[in-house]
Amino acid sequence: MKKLILLIVLSLAFIACGQEDPNQKFDAFKETFITQLWKIYPDWASSVGYHHYDSILAVPNKESNDKRLAFAAEKLTELFSFDLDKLSENNKTDYRLIENQLNSIKWYINAEKSFEWDPSGYNVSRSFAEMLTNNYDSLDTRLHDLGLKLVFVPAYYEAAKQNITNPTKEHTELAIAQNLGGVSVFENDLKSALENSQLRESEKQEITVRAGEAVVAIKDYVAWLKNLDNKNPRSFRLGKDLYDKKFEFDIQSGYTVDQIYEKAIARKIYLHKKMAAFANQLWPKYFGSAMKPADTLVMIKQVIDKVSLKHVHPDSFQIAIERQIPELAKFVKEKDLLYMDPSKPLVVRKEPDYMAGVAGASITAPGPYDKSGNTYYNVGSLSGWDKERAESFLREYNYYILQLLNVHEAIPGHYAQLVYSNQSPSIVKSILYNGAMVEGWAVYAELMMLENGYGNNEPEMWLMYYKWNLRAVCNTILDIGVHTKEMSEESALSLLIKEAFQQDAEAQGKWRRVSLTSVQLCSYFTGFTEIYDVREMLKMKQGDKFRLKTFHEKFLGYGSAPVKYIRDMMLLVADKEDNE
Ligand code: ZN
Ligand code: ZN
Repeated sequence: MKKLILLIVLSLAFIACGQEDPNQKFDAFKETFITQLWKIYPDWASSVGYHHYDSILAVPNKESNDKRLAFAAEKLTELFSFDLDKLSENNKTDYRLIENQLNSIKWYINAEKSFEWDPSGYNVSRSFAEMLTNNYDSLDTRLHDLGLKLVFVPAYYEAAKQNITNPTKEHTELAIAQNLGGVSVFENDLKSALENSQLRESEKQEITVRAGEAVVAIKDYVAWLKNLDNKNPRSFRLGKDLYDKKFEFDIQSGYTVDQIYEKAIARKIYLHKKMAAFANQLWPKYFGSAMKPADTLVMIKQVIDKVSLKHVHPDSFQIAIERQIPELAKFVKEKDLLYMDPSKPLVVRKEPDYMAGVAGASITAPGPYDKSGNTYYNVGSLSGWDKERAESFLREYNYYILQLLNVHEAIPGHYAQLVYSNQSPSIVKSILYNGAMVEGWAVYAELMMLENGYGNNEPEMWLMYYKWNLRAVCNTILDIGVHTKEMSEESALSLLIKEAFQQDAEAQGKWRRVSLTSVQLCSYFTGFTEIYDVREMLKMKQGDKFRLKTFHEKFLGYGSAPVKYIRDMMLLVADKEDNE
């Protein structure tokens, strides 16, 4: 009896403590935050595998913006009621990520206002296409939801027309092309899905009628855009004030835009110097006693072109990648760089059809609502490519670059980072993950592997690495230059072709990308720089005690959080150890 009473007293005490534990309270807050977030962002919810709101399309009118603003204000108040110092490290970063997200909702609606000037932000075909191609539920259930969602399409495009005031020329053209391109989802894909379904004939017919109305709305939107009397189009350049803020919200760096720009310029000069040394060293091997061009950049380019000729056969592109993964894992283990959990293998597969068209490789990880799924390494096939196009692609992804690509995408890059971030599961971090940390890690992994002797310090490998790294560096110079410094198309192309050794087609594509997007192109170099700087700082602090493997595992253990917060936490731990 005494024992029983003690047990009751103990468990009551435990419950009472539990209620006061700020972390438990914060966990509950996070749950409601996410559930409510999905309600006002149904498309975002579907894209991460939360399918409760699949039948809803958010109509982008003032009412919907007001709802989102009210949500942001309410949740910020709730958030501020927590004492940050009392939260666990995991919850501290979640707190920061949520705070940033809520402020960012406010800023995008009140200041950035791309809903007024970017007509390509309005396009329904993609989310409908995903409902047709992703097998998360039975076809009939997906089609039923799709039918309900279709009802909103005409109102969606009416709201779009109301919102648009001074669209940029570039985004208007993109909107026309992409919306027209999306019509086939309703006219073809949906039609064949309906043929395969077991839905009642009457429902099928209803869906067909609504799809017809959706197509009319899309075509009407396109015609409206084409006839728009846009006397004062906005410039596609974001402008310094907006850019600085967007960088703050999207990158969450410890550095400012100006600091990152300076660092990128300095890195470009450093890389050119290194490349010149290696190209000089390699010149006799590839050109014998031929005269070197007087212009160093031209000389480097000629050596790069020769080294690029070493590449795999088009038919063995996938096999070459498959063979490399275990070799990379072996190297990481032998050099004691990072522990890799052998129970979570990476599955290499041919790129599925719905992704086709983008050659190269990418990682698909299971979403936060589907943890048991496999992680895939999707490899594009070159079958059906004409000889010239395949050759040019293979020179770009030559023997050396292909290895760097695998390091970046798989081991110890994106895939390894994912395995670690899944070990500290936080649904907040998996939906609000920091892109600069994720990309920065993969870019850091490339240099780290070479520093540790991957590629046997062959001058060709280093030269190619520097070219590859130069791409991330010049993306940053380009993005900041174009959006805040009026960089012209001519000097942009010259930067990419002459100074970053890119092919014309690649450079043109990059110019197009920078005129349609902003800030994202900076994430690779910014994250890389920050991670590298944290490492060097800890090396200095810890001296002989610094262990690379420990650094990597601790760093990754914090999950996909902004580097500046990981840095603070790691420095705090290092300080404590110092004082012991
Ligand atoms: Zn060739
Ligand atoms: Zn990447």
